[in-house]
Amino acid sequence: MPAYSIDVLDLDFRGSPRAVAAFLIKGPEGAVLVECGPGSTLPALERGLAAHALRPADIRAVLLTHIHLDHAGAAGWWAQHGADIYVHAFGAPHLIAPEKLLASATRIYGDQMDVLWGPYLASPAERVHALSGGETVAVAGLNFTAHDTPGHARHHLVWQLDDLAFVGDVAAIRIGGGRHIRIPSPPPEFEREVWLASIARMRALAFSRLYLTHFGALSDVDTHWQRVAALVDEQAELARDLPERATLLQRLIDFDNRDLSDDEREQYNNAGPIGMSADGLLRYWKRKGG
Ligand SMILES: [Zn+2]
Repeated sequence: MPAYSIDVLDLDFRGSPRAVAAFLIKGPEGAVLVECGPGSTLPALERGLAAHALRPADIRAVLLTHIHLDHAGAAGWWAQHGADIYVHAFGAPHLIAPEKLLASATRIYGDQMDVLWGPYLASPAERVHALSGGETVAVAGLNFTAHDTPGHARHHLVWQLDDLAFVGDVAAIRIGGGRHIRIPSPPPEFEREVWLASIARMRALAFSRLYLTHFGALSDVDTHWQRVAALVDEQAELARDLPERATLLQRLIDFDNRDLSDDEREQYNNAGPIGMSADGLLRYWKRKGG
């Protein structure tokens, strides 16, 4: 038996079960989080920790897969409470000086910013540890290896612990290990070829189990990577002819609805809105076209 435990904490994002997770790992020398969710779900996260008899002060480190608000909006709160934050070097500046990130998020979410994401605090620079992939981080008596895995975002890391991996969004969205997989292809950094290369490298590591932020653990690892790769390709093709946004949105909805029930659709929409994916695809093809 490994000398640690892993618990999936449901952050109850927008009141939706199994939309956004944080992972609590208890090791021989303390507890860490992989992902911390947005500021709006801090109460749910604190409740989750309390169920394990932990207080925020017990969390010594937060390992982030990337800085999108649903994964990392609360990182500054944790940093201000003394946790060390481990994050990709391309994302680190936005934790320390969040103005640019918040301005661009406000352009997208407008007056929904606070309802969706809650408070976003700046992280004290001395708490932020910037990584490029390849490093091993020793926390809580455990060794986590960071893997550079761009494609969904340029600043994306996968965190490996033994033969397990916390995969952020590079393994897409698949709630509760169910049939359906949704590919989150948001702007500004979605890039098909880069994502496929990341998948190939992660697949070669032959993890026994993946922990998806959206949502939960799965064990059919190789099949999952293959399906995600195929879907990234298929979804990208939907926008090759640079259709009107509304046309692409309908194509994406049809594409995504093939094996999705109405109940599931709401959950998936909370985990990864389709409009964002449409915008990311259009941006990708426009950039490619020069
Ligand atoms: Zn996400």
